[in-house]
Amino acid sequence: MAKFDEFVEANGRYAAGFGEGDLPMPPARQVAVVTCMDARLHPEKFLGLAVGDAHVIRNAGGRVSEDAIRSLVISERLLGTTEIVVIHHTDCGMLTFQNEDLTAKIKEDLGVDTTGQDFLPFPDLEQSVRDDVEIVKSSDLIPDDIPVTGAIYDVKTGELREIVRS
Ligand SMILES: [Zn+2]
Repeated sequence: MAKFDEFVEANGRYAAGFGEGDLPMPPARQVAVVTCMDARLHPEKFLGLAVGDAHVIRNAGGRVSEDAIRSLVISERLLGTTEIVVIHHTDCGMLTFQNEDLTAKIKEDLGVDTTGQDFLPFPDLEQSVRDDVEIVKSSDLIPDDIPVTGAIYDVKTGELREIVRS
């Protein structure tokens, strides 16, 4: 069975009990979270977020990439969020490779040359959080009065640890 067919089955059960169809579009708690796509992270659960509460922007590493900035700008300018939280996590896959490694693998697997492309891996977890908070703070598209916090989630303990607040 394709995964999508399993999803359709599960969704049938979900929709049968669904009662949150009248929520407004703007997040109720006016916050946007940038975090990693890692399957072990369930941000809504570990942050105590209900459906409708927050924007959770996910990508490989939880990096504040150009596209993350795009989402943050839309979140703040059009949908009323007033705070940003960046969360990276222990044992992240982005700690396990360098651009050259992935570039070589893509060349071998797909025959495509991605030389020069930054896949945004990082060697130091705390530093990557600080770097991404700094990217948010220094963006002309994010006002200076928006509080930005950087944190690390521990996949072993479920705990969130603050790294930087600005
Ligand atoms: Zn990760």
